This record gives sequence, structure tokens and C-alpha cells, in this order.
Amino acid sequence: MRPDAAATDALADSLARLLPGLESFTRFEGPDPAARRSLWRAALDEPLPEAGAGREAVLETLRTVVIANGLRIGAPGFSGWVTTMPTTVPAVAQLAGALVAAQRWWASPGNFLEVLALRWLARLVGLPDHFEGAFTGGGSLANLLGLAAARQHAGESHGFDPGLDGLARLVAPRVYASTEVHHVVLRACGVLGLGRRALRMVPVDARRQPDLRVLERFLDEDLAAGRTPVAVVASAGDVNTGIVDPIDAMREIAHARGVWLHVDGAYGGFGVLDPRVAPLYGDLSKIDSFAVDPHKWMAVPVGCGAGFVRDGGLLARSLTLEPAAYVEMAPTGTGDVRSPFDERGEGNPDFSLDHSAPARGLTVWAALKEIGASGMRARVVRHNDCARRVASRVREHPALELLAEPVLSICCFRVKPNGISDESALDALNEKVLLGVRARGRAIPSHTRVDGRFALRPCFINPRTTLADADATVDEVLAVARELGAIPV
Ligand SMILES: *Cc1c(COP(=O)(O)O)cnc(C)c1O
Repeated sequence: MRPDAAATDALADSLARLLPGLESFTRFEGPDPAARRSLWRAALDEPLPEAGAGREAVLETLRTVVIANGLRIGAPGFSGWVTTMPTTVPAVAQLAGALVAAQRWWASPGNFLEVLALRWLARLVGLPDHFEGAFTGGGSLANLLGLAAARQHAGESHGFDPGLDGLARLVAPRVYASTEVHHVVLRACGVLGLGRRALRMVPVDARRQPDLRVLERFLDEDLAAGRTPVAVVASAGDVNTGIVDPIDAMREIAHARGVWLHVDGAYGGFGVLDPRVAPLYGDLSKIDSFAVDPHKWMAVPVGCGAGFVRDGGLLARSLTLEPAAYVEMAPTGTGDVRSPFDERGEGNPDFSLDHSAPARGLTVWAALKEIGASGMRARVVRHNDCARRVASRVREHPALELLAEPVLSICCFRVKPNGISDESALDALNEKVLLGVRARGRAIPSHTRVDGRFALRPCFINPRTTLADADATVDEVLAVARELGAIPV
């Protein structure tokens, strides 16, 4: 008899039952089961069971329903999202980490590798060695770390500690970013008590970059009115079109006024690895904080972002985790806090919003150990090439229109048949084309709006994607436009 209802053994057997299905899932054969939602829902939806069905029944449901109907965002033709399915080694590392590095803050090889991976990541994107930070659940929280440090910086510049004392003395805080800023930055402003309304959106110019004169004017107006600029946020790769803001110029404007410069590189931070676009990132050693998402271009399992700040002390004072009797032990009279468990690991719990958490960086270590900086560089260059290939095919075709010149690995375009100039008709046509392309299943881009126009938007970050898939995206769009009678056969 087992002491507990849950199996704590039979790992090899459990995995063996799932492996053939997982292996075949990664080949993306047959029709995409996404359309069978009503079937798998019916198979899964049930009330809380009073009696457990047992290990074998769970594995059988995983095999026949969950894996068989899995989300195929890793298919080579899928370019819809800015996240993707992980590659093999980081996915397997995550499983190993779940078992052997179950708490990130305690000494273990997983804990050590998490901290090593954070240093590797900083090196990879060109941040100086003194930058500190933490792995987070994603870019949402990585940006929040940067802004938490910015808030601390603003408070301390005014002689108080917002982490300890709250925000009562932070007069009318303001954050500045272009209108293209990711919406999680707004939420971070709300969560940090600055308020979503604290974000002043700077209009963009024809290249969709923030108008720097307006940025300066906003800052100077606010300073003159006694408000408190907390941070300027630059996007290094926005999710709509992949724009990299003029980071150096924004930093100079911010720093001239004592204001923090945060860079949101959640998607495009890795773009700096492509020498053709690296100059757009300017001198990252001079910024104040940086967010990047290994669970996007690096293709580690979703649940892994990373936030870095130039001064770890600010971050630690912002997110201080006060001592707790159940964790630490201070030998009488010493004030010297130590752990009753042999060793705290490396990394600083005051850099994170997590308390209990997995060693997320283990997957980043695995990815970088497997392919090295050169493997990451080659991937980024190949994906940027894919966007350029789509752009050149679009430029060559009289019935296609490029809506934004690719900067990184996104290319926004639309079908624009000769003679149709009505914008709402073009929007409607391109919506139909997108759905038609999706239904055929060979290529799956997504959509956005560029200057108000409905755009087809392939975003190439999937390691399984090649130039042939980029070509197929254009071919499929043309095929559907012909089927719809929108362009000549
Ligand atoms: C994806 C993304 C985010 C949000 O990150 P999550 O990992 O989804 O939480 C923020 N900013 C940019 C530019 C992004 O691409």
C-alpha cells in the first residue's frame, strides 16, 4: 500500500506512455485539431471527482486528448504569436528542474545554473556585468521589475523610500512611452501605484518612432508643474511591427533630467544579435533597466522572462522581502541572520516578486548550453531574413502592399487589388484572407492594425521556421486572394 493517493514512483513508465504521442505531436501531422474544440471540451469537462481515477487514467487522458489536441504554435508555418513552442532540450530541462530544483532560492545545481544563466543572458544581449536582476514569469513581470526600480530611484531622489513608506510623497508620478508601448507597461504602472493614467503616450512619427520633441516637452512641462517623472520606457521591438525606438536619444533626454530609462526588449531584445540592426539599440551599457523574454525568441517553455537593472540595490529596496521566523535564524545577540538549512542558494529573493518559484533559468542555461551565442545569433538573423523575404515578395507583387518595412522579424502587409482603395473594403477583404489562410493551415500569420489599416502580420520567432515557410506565407495569401476572386488567377 502506498502512503498517499498520488504516485511518487513509476516516473519512467509514466513518461514512456506519453513519449510516442509527444514525439508525433512535434511532427504536426494531419489536420490541426484546433477546430475540434467542442469534442475535446466534452471529453474533459467534468465535476470535481470524489474518487481519483488513478495514474493510468490521467496519463491516458493526457495521451489521447491533451497531447493529441495540443496547441500547434510550434508548427513551422505558424508565425502568429510572439511566443512559440519550446525546442526539445529546454522543454526536457524544465521537467528535470521541476523534480530536482523545486525551489529556486536554495542551493542546488539548478539554483546555481539559474544565476549563471542570468549572467549569460546579460552578456548575450550586451548588458554590463554589474547589471543584476531575476528571472520572472514573463515580460509582464520583467517590465514591472524595471519600473519598480525606477519608482525606487524617483522616491530616493526626493529623499524617501517608496518601498518602505509608500507613495504618499511621490507627487504626480509620470511615465513616458510611445503610443506603440506594450499594454503590460500600463498595467505595471497601475500595480506599482503610479496609476495607469500616469503613462503619457508620446505620438509617433512616420517611422512609428516616438516624436522626441514631444517627449522633451512632456518631461519639461511635468517638471515645471512639480510632477515627478519616474521613467521613460523605450521599446526594443514592439509587437505590432517590430519597431526599435531610438534608445540612445531617449536615454539622453531622460538622463539630462535625472529620469530612469527602461528598455522593453521582451520580444525584440534578442534582435541586437543581428549585426544589421544592432546599431539601433545604441549603447545598452548606459540604460537603467532592461526586460527580455527567453520564452519568446529563445524558445524556452513559456513562463520565463528576465528583468535587469543597473543598480541591484534599488531593486532590492523596492521589493524587500522582510525576514521571517520560519525561514531564518539569528543566533542570539548577533543580528546575523542565517538559515537553518545548510545553505541559501545564489540569487537574491529581494529582486523578485516570486516567493516559492521554480529555477526558471535552468531552461535558459539549457538553451544556451545547447546552441551557444552563435546558435541564437543565427536564429535571429534567419528570422529577420524571413521578414525581409516576405517584404521583398510583397514589393514585387502588384496586388500586395507593404504596410511597414520590417526592422526585426515581423512583416506587416496586406492584399490591395488594383482598383480597390476604400479602406473598409480593404480591411474586410484582408480579414477574409487571414481566415482563409488560417483554414488552409500551411501558414498561420496573425494580424494587427498599422495606421488604422488591417494588416497581415507574420512574426518569425519559431526555431522550426525557415525561409521556405516565409515564402509559403506569401503564397498562401495570394492563393486565398485568388480563391476569393479578389485578384486574377
Ligand atoms: C510579449 C511582450 C510583453 C509581455 O511579455 P509576456 O511575456 O507576455 O508577459 C511586453 N512587451 C513586449 C514588447 C512584448 O513583446
